[in-house]
Amino acid sequence: MFIMEAEKLTEFLRQENRRLCDYALEQELEAGTGSRKELRERMAQTLAVMERSVEKARREPVRSVSGLTGGNACLYENYRKAGKSILGEAVSKAVAMALSCSELNASMQCIVACPTAGSCGIVPAVLLSCAETFGLDREQVIDGLFTASAVGILIGSRATLAGAEGGCQAECGSAAAMGAAAVVEMLGGTPEMAFHAAAMALKNVLGLTCDPVAGLVEIPCIKRNASGAVNALLSADLALAGVKSYIPFDEVVDAMYAIGKAMPSEVRETAKGGLAVSPTGQRMRKTAEAAQTGGEKAGRRADPEKNTGTDGKMSDG
Ligand code: SF4
Repeated sequence: MFIMEAEKLTEFLRQENRRLCDYALEQELEAGTGSRKELRERMAQTLAVMERSVEKARREPVRSVSGLTGGNACLYENYRKAGKSILGEAVSKAVAMALSCSELNASMQCIVACPTAGSCGIVPAVLLSCAETFGLDREQVIDGLFTASAVGILIGSRATLAGAEGGCQAECGSAAAMGAAAVVEMLGGTPEMAFHAAAMALKNVLGLTCDPVAGLVEIPCIKRNASGAVNALLSADLALAGVKSYIPFDEVVDAMYAIGKAMPSEVRETAKGGLAVSPTGQRMRKTAEAAQTGGEKAGRRADPEKNTGTDGKMSDG
């Protein structure tokens, strides 16, 4: 049985001198879902999808199906490659990778939902950016994915991973927590440090609403993935430096769930509140609906390459 409390799990792993990633893999073995070799191969296939999705939209602009968003991963990649980013190599690369994954999701291309499609960019971005920056091999990244999965299981069992139930804190917040913990273990941190990182990442976005424009996983989702990647790396860095979360992981997850349940339904993926009902958000919804029904007139559709809405104002996403 998976130990569903981080506090007890941390103590168990400390006594056994084991890592979170090994524990997650062993739990899968106990569940009988495959041999150790098969489970790692399955995770390697998952990683291969992630490796493609963090690259593609950085190399060439990818437009969303709605036409509302796209091209920002490429734009940002060119900017950071020119040495202009204020974030440094590991973080700026993670930002570009997260944008790439999320733009591919919005264009209905293959991504790994981890834990959800809306938050698909964060885990691959932070793991693969760190792997490239620190020269880690694929086996170490696969270990990181097992660590991330353990944290996801704990959040999902104690609370929720769904924006419709807990707001974006439950999606992008959970993804950041998973990524932060994984990076900590990949870089030699203990399970205790990994849970401190996860707690800090989730705390940083408590109360974050789910308010997608037109109900599409684009605006503000794509940029929230970039933000979530930075949050994950920051939290991992703090934990690796020895900084601890004053509020333990389990209590942070419980708080996230309570906040999610207290949120009005308007900001839980219904597109009836927040950014979705802002004047620009509503104009963009009409644009997306017109595009969907084929009724849009020439020139009315948002131009992602110019990153503008129908009225020429800057768009989000
Ligand atoms: S805003 Fe909502 S749909 Fe978008 S990523 Fe966050 S939880 Fe998912």
